Amino acid sequence: MRLQPEAIGSGMTSQRVRDRLVQRLRDEGIRDERVLNAIRTVPRHLFVDEALATRAYEDTALPIGHGQTISQPWVVARMTEALMSVAPGRVLEIGTGSGYQAAILAALGLEVHTVERIGELLRVARKRFRSLGLNVRSKHDDGRIGWPENGPFDAILVTAAAPALVDALGHQLATGGVLVAPVGGATSQSLVMLQKQPDGRLQSHDLGPVVFVPLLSGMVD
Ligand code: SAH
Repeated sequence: MRLQPEAIGSGMTSQRVRDRLVQRLRDEGIRDERVLNAIRTVPRHLFVDEALATRAYEDTALPIGHGQTISQPWVVARMTEALMSVAPGRVLEIGTGSGYQAAILAALGLEVHTVERIGELLRVARKRFRSLGLNVRSKHDDGRIGWPENGPFDAILVTAAAPALVDALGHQLATGGVLVAPVGGATSQSLVMLQKQPDGRLQSHDLGPVVFVPLLSGMVD
């Protein structure tokens, strides 16, 4: 990844502050050094509004406008760690939002595809990818249909919650691939990891409780 000088930051966005976040994630059970290193490298403060930049290295979700949030770093780390367990090449994210999760995946050297239903969020995320020199393929669409022309994917991350898994996404998963998604309603969700077996079945593991914004239908500008 090519980082521009302004990405290095100072004060509340300095390397020391980022290292403290990484240590906290380590203390809270994140073990994959590749993932921790990506979190150390990707400037999260450039994925939120300037007014929130000083809070960017707290382990908390933050608003990004349009009623949406950038996920909590621990959740990003946990989902990424689950995905890295299958040595993926090509990955799909549903719910680009700020673009931060996609940037973490790109920093890990993965071939990233991401889909967002809110056009304005996607436009801003694309600018961030460009200015950080990150190679991410993105599309403005209802992510519940996935991205069938570019599948199958070794891993699919869904970063918005639905009461049930979306079948179309399971179909776009390669054999041995994993789908990581929050499943549940507004108040109670579990992070679920499904792995596609050679016979096509999806074997499920529960990774614990999480809170995500809802997966909605249709597109908006
Ligand atoms: N991964 C994001 C988190 C964004 S929050 C980040 O790193 O910042 C969830 C995002 O999912 C929101 O931007 C929301 O607009 C989007 N979303 C919700 N339903 C969707 C759908 N059906 N298709 C695509 N994106 C969707």
